[in-house]
Formats: sequence, C-alpha cells, structure tokens
Amino acid sequence: MENKKQTKYQGFEQGPIRPPSEASSLLIRLTRNCPWNRCTFCPVYKGTSFSVRPLEHIIKDINLIKYQIDRIQEYSSNGKINKENASTLWNQTDASHQVVFHAALNWFANGMTSVFLQDANSLIIKPAHLVEILSHLRSLFPNIQRVTSYARSHTIARIGQDDLDAIARSGLNRIHIGLESGSDEVLSQVIKGAKKQSHIKAGQKVKQSKMELSEYIMPGLGGQSLSENHALETADAINQINPDYIRFRSLAIPSTIPLKDMVDQGKFIPCSDVQIAREIHLMISSFNNIQSFVTSDHVLNLFEDVQGKLPEDQSKMLSIVSHFLSLPPKEQMIFQVGRRLGIMRFLSQLDHVPLRNQVESICNQMNITPDNVDASIQEIITRFI
Ligand code: SF4
Repeated sequence: MENKKQTKYQGFEQGPIRPPSEASSLLIRLTRNCPWNRCTFCPVYKGTSFSVRPLEHIIKDINLIKYQIDRIQEYSSNGKINKENASTLWNQTDASHQVVFHAALNWFANGMTSVFLQDANSLIIKPAHLVEILSHLRSLFPNIQRVTSYARSHTIARIGQDDLDAIARSGLNRIHIGLESGSDEVLSQVIKGAKKQSHIKAGQKVKQSKMELSEYIMPGLGGQSLSENHALETADAINQINPDYIRFRSLAIPSTIPLKDMVDQGKFIPCSDVQIAREIHLMISSFNNIQSFVTSDHVLNLFEDVQGKLPEDQSKMLSIVSHFLSLPPKEQMIFQVGRRLGIMRFLSQLDHVPLRNQVESICNQMNITPDNVDASIQEIITRFI
C-alpha cells in the first residue's frame, strides 16, 4: 500500500485532525488520509487518496523532531523557553523546517508527554513497522507517557492478537475507534464498512492487549427512523466491549458530506435536538455493567456536562438530559441556540439573565422560534466543521 510514485521524502508532515483529547500531543503522520473514506457522514478526507508513508520517512520525521527539541532545550531553562529565545530560534530556522520547528515548540511547551499517530487508521501499516516506529519514538523520548492513534474496527479485527500485543508492548497506549453505532442497519446505511460484531471483536481485542480503548459514538446517526434501534444496539455493543472511554460526537450534516444528498432526497430524516436528547437518554440508561468513562468533549454536542464514570455517574448524566427534556419548548430553544453560539455551556445558565437576554435577542434578530430552531441550529453547527 506504500505509494511507490512518492518515495522521495517530502518533508515533515502533519495530518488534518486529531481527537480533542490530543491537543497537547505531538502529531506523527504514519499514513495519509483514510483507506476506507466511504462513510457518508464524514467530511474529513473526501476527495483525497490514501497512502502509507515509507517507514524511513516516518523515522526521519521523528529524528527531525528530536533535532528541533534539542535546539529548543539548549535555549530553555527549567523546562521552559521564553518568547525572545523562541523567536531567535524561529528566525534561525530555515523555511523548509518551520513546520517541524513549530510542532516541536508546541510539544515542548506542553510537556512532551503524549504523541498521536496520524491519520485515520495507523494500525493498517505492517505491525513490525509500527513496532519499530514506537520503539524509535520511545528510545529518543523516554519520558513520553502516552502514545495514541485512530484505528478502524475492520482493521483491528483482522490483526493477530500476538501482533496487537507486540504493538501494545512497544508503547501504543490507547486506540480511538469510531464505532459510531452498534446497529447493523445504521452502519450499513452510512457505509461505515464495519458490522456490530467486528466492532465488538476489535474492541475486545484492544482490551485484551491491555491498551486503553476510546470508542466514539454518534448520536443522531440513525436519523428519525432508526433512532431507537441505534440507541439500543449501540449500548449493547458497548456493554460487550466495556471500553475505557465512550465519547459522544453528535451528527452534523454540512453540504460536503454524501449524507446531505440523502437528506435532500428525503431518504434520511435527521433527528431534532429533542429526539437526539431522547436517544442519548435511552443509550445511557441502557449501559449496563460497564466501567467506562463517558465524555462529551466535542463542540457539536448539546450537553457538554454529560460526562462521568459508569456506573456511579449514570443517574447524574441521565438527570441532565431529563432536565432538558422537561423544559418548555422556548427554554429548550434558548439553550440550543445559546450552546451552539458558545454563549451558554450548561443548562443552569438558563437562569443567568444577561446570557439568556443575549440569546433571546439573537433569536429575535434571526427569527428563530421553537418551530424552526433545529433548521437554524443545523446552519450554526456546520460552521464548526
Ligand atoms: S473510517 Fe473514519 S476517517 Fe474514514 S471515512 Fe469513515 S469516519 Fe471518516
């Protein structure tokens, strides 16, 4: 799968995305884009082609980071570099090395403890190569505490357990998987390229290898017709996996994704925020006998504070969603708009008079009412994608 036409080193590379929890991490690009690239809800790599970067290029990227970190450390004291010294180093850095210098400086400023391997499915490379990359990284930077990556269930389900164990022993600590749904109907409808059973098999293998597992779930992905099935089947898959983390990332439908065509043709009816809240409530109440940490750390989510450890925080999370569902439509609208405009973060802020006045004034200006709020919200949230 290596791109034979592009074997010449093209310089230090950074891919387009990382999970929100990896904001402090050094990004090392192992592959370019997504080998699947067909999920109808995903805008990230559309129009790009996939390639595996040659092993020696990845090793070179890591060596370049080491070189820049050594420079930065020479100009730093007590693990910190002041602005003047950083600026001096920047001015001495050749233009062709400014990307790697910037990545190294950002990592240094964040303590150099975590690394994220890009792009969408690093586990697709040869296990022996991944072991070599991890070993090299950890030998140059022995203080790294965490190395993480995205991976597809389909890929992990096909890797031998021995290889996965070797990857874990070499220092891959956490895998982020886009489970999205446990419903085969939903997975098939959005062309996820994975079935419930492969999600479960992959998740259980990661757990068996002792790596941490983070599973992404996408509220709203079943649309109105499959909402209940999506909630129940997803909870059932998660219950069989017992991941370390469950991360919510609600569906948004910008014009750049294939799912938008289905919406326009009337083949996919998106859920309203209230329907998604009901779906999340059903899903969380169906989590059973697992010890995962639930997090909602994405700007697209309506409930930022629906997070906590299962099972002890289950009722606290459910009460937040129930509170929203119990509100009159106008109050729900004010929170929906306030949250998506970044004016409000929590339901308790509905009692904050200046904030609610600000949101009400915007609703008046934009003619947003409880009847049209979901269409307006869709416009607002696509700006964040
Ligand atoms: S596998 Fe992940 S990155 Fe690839 S198209 Fe699907 S959601 Fe997007």
